[in-house]
Amino acid sequence: MSPIDEEQLQGLQGVRDFLRIRTSYDVLPLSFRLIVLDNDLLIRKSLNILIQNNIVSAPLWDSHNGRFAGLLTSTDFINVIQYYNQFPEQIDNVEKFRLSSLRDIEKAINVQTLETVSVHPSRPLYEACSRMLRSRARRIPLVDVDDETGRETVVSVITQYRILKFIAVNTEQHTSMMKRTIREINLGTYTDLATCKMTDSVLDVINSMVVRNISAVPVIDKNNVVLNVFEAVDVIPCIKGGAYEELKSTVGEALSQRPEDFPGIYTCQEDDRLDSIFQTVRQSRVHRLVVIDDNWHLKGILSLSDILKYVLFHGEEGDYFPQT
Ligand code: ATP
Repeated sequence: MSPIDEEQLQGLQGVRDFLRIRTSYDVLPLSFRLIVLDNDLLIRKSLNILIQNNIVSAPLWDSHNGRFAGLLTSTDFINVIQYYNQFPEQIDNVEKFRLSSLRDIEKAINVQTLETVSVHPSRPLYEACSRMLRSRARRIPLVDVDDETGRETVVSVITQYRILKFIAVNTEQHTSMMKRTIREINLGTYTDLATCKMTDSVLDVINSMVVRNISAVPVIDKNNVVLNVFEAVDVIPCIKGGAYEELKSTVGEALSQRPEDFPGIYTCQEDDRLDSIFQTVRQSRVHRLVVIDDNWHLKGILSLSDILKYVLFHGEEGDYFPQT
């Protein structure tokens, strides 16, 4: 093995050791708020609550059984849109659907139900990461049990974004050893990319997100130049007020509804080294990087799960998703 590979592996090992001695509690800020939604709430109302509170997901609570009931995310709203499109005669019922109907909607439109995995906040962070990656969830709820009542409580939710940020901020001595370029380690997706144009309909883009199980689609022009990225969360303002049937807008119109503080998109090049990717994660609000060439032509996409999977599992014996 070359010295540069050896150093990279040493860096990866350093990060893994760090994740094994830290817990999910360590990732949480000292003070934070958590909005939990009752499973009996109307889906329409839950959407307004997300918008009013400027959040894109929330844990669900089953108050009949006193149990955690899963996570509400933008994917659920995308499923409702898909449901309406497949069963337009049901539009009056869509208004009456409660959060507890989300699983039935998934079944009706035949999408894969995401496993409701959760993790105890004092378990090692490594475990939270690998459970999240194995279940293909992008966020994982931290569920504790009250000693006195024996009942579950949702402490918080941690995301891939938060974990990568935590790694980037706290393990610079290890990530700075990762000097291989993303091309050399084949990080990201470069073939069969899902893309869209500004004039495409939001519905078509949503459809390709559902079919491909991805949460972002680069927006390109006719010359394959990257203009923007349409994200699953961009759907939320489009259906504000329950306007599922009016979802005829184009990608361009939907993007113009982004909040003023939208952080923008991040790009990188195939010759960028992993240490510089971590530097970007450390300094900015990155949710994915679009890989481009010198002239902004689309080359690929580097998602947070791509980075996290590499950091956790590269070079490990056996499966890419080892059982813990
Ligand atoms: P999130 O972006 O919500 O944090 P994630 O990190 O899992 O979630 P996804 O966008 O769901 O990212 O990506 C899952 C896999 O699909 C990754 O391997 C990624 O490289 C690939 N991928 C992402 N977007 C596209 C796309 N538009 N076309 C093809 N493949 C994609």
